[in-house]
Amino acid sequence: MQQKLELLLKLQVIDYDLGELERSKEYLPDMMENLTREIKEAQEQYDNSVESLEEAKIKQKNLELEIKTKEAELQKFQQQMMSIKTNKEYDALVAEIDSVKANISSKETELLETIDLVDLLENNIKDYKIKLEQTKENNTKQLSILQKKIDSIGDKVSGKEVERKVITTEIPKQLMSVYERVRKGKGGSAVVAVKKRACGACYKSLTPRKIQDIRRGDKILTCDNCGRLLYWDDNISK
Ligand SMILES: [Zn+2]
Repeated sequence: MQQKLELLLKLQVIDYDLGELERSKEYLPDMMENLTREIKEAQEQYDNSVESLEEAKIKQKNLELEIKTKEAELQKFQQQMMSIKTNKEYDALVAEIDSVKANISSKETELLETIDLVDLLENNIKDYKIKLEQTKENNTKQLSILQKKIDSIGDKVSGKEVERKVITTEIPKQLMSVYERVRKGKGGSAVVAVKKRACGACYKSLTPRKIQDIRRGDKILTCDNCGRLLYWDDNISK
């Protein structure tokens, strides 16, 4: 009986591995998708900043040009001051000069803000570039590892299935059908160790008699409550 139990436990490990391989078909592509998205997002963040920087630089140039034009205009008005003849002309020119000055002043404020923005973006771009390069390097490595894992799932599954076949031929049919029924019905482990004088899966307590029978190990007993196959393990059961 001990040997059959060992076979069942081996079978259980194989089935667990097969389950994990099956699950990895779902989560490995998800992980790959996340890694690819991270690269894409870092790239977009970098590209957007580069674009914003170009826009800000163009704005800066335009403002500088506009200020120069307005300053030339101001100079022209100030020269006209010399040849003013009437009070009316004087008032009109002063108004023009004030308006140009106000215009220059607001453009200068805008220019300073734009220069700050250019500085900020230039700094950000440095950081974003480092982040992009690191993300690309790390994620590409991880992606190739994950891809290899995905590519090897088929072979691993076939290998495990062969192992499984070999083991199941050594397990009596009746025991196999109990194992399969519990595994499919309950999910998780079908063979569990006794724990604190109870079933290790559903915690239903066991009679002293039953524990004794399980310890003796000449027969594989099942839990009355959940139907799982029970065994005694000196390290777990105590
Ligand atoms: Zn149970």
